[in-house]
Amino acid sequence: MKIERTALTFWERLYLPAVIAGLKVTLRHFLRRKVTMQYPEERWVVPTGYRGAPYLVKDQEGRVKCVSCQLCEFVCPPKAIKILPPGPAVDPATGNVEKRPREFEINMLRCIFCGYCQEVCPEEAIFLMKDYSLTGKSRQEMVYGLEKLLELGGTHLDSIQKWKHK
Ligand code: SF4
Ligand code: SF4
Repeated sequence: MKIERTALTFWERLYLPAVIAGLKVTLRHFLRRKVTMQYPEERWVVPTGYRGAPYLVKDQEGRVKCVSCQLCEFVCPPKAIKILPPGPAVDPATGNVEKRPREFEINMLRCIFCGYCQEVCPEEAIFLMKDYSLTGKSRQEMVYGLEKLLELGGTHLDSIQKWKHK
């Protein structure tokens, strides 16, 4: 079937109305408030309760809160956590029997920031912090070890202290 092409009107043949309409759109965007963020110099301010990367914390006495119970390792859906628990050791300073992980790894390439590890932890030793952009030059670099997790997690002040002195 042959379809007849409709003839252009005088204004359409001038093309000026279309050009002016296009320039109006350009001008409207030009005058708008800038929304481009100069990332990574500028970053989003994430709201309270945001679930970013999970890190380990120390208590106010500088002790590792994790008791290597491995609940978080068990519950983690993508199996991002790997823990090597040592046997219990006596702390010479207090005489308390302590348990802490020999090695604790979180593969940040696997982690989906679900927060299950934080929810399940009986010691309040692991928290999802505000970091949402993690980078590394290799896959191995994205596997965070115990020292790095503790350094990034910092101190968590709360009433739960497994080594609280009597
Ligand atoms: S946030 Fe979720 S995926 Fe990431 S380590 Fe914790 S349990 Fe695993
Ligand atoms: S972070 Fe919490 S849940 Fe995970 S092993 Fe340590 S104490 Fe257990």
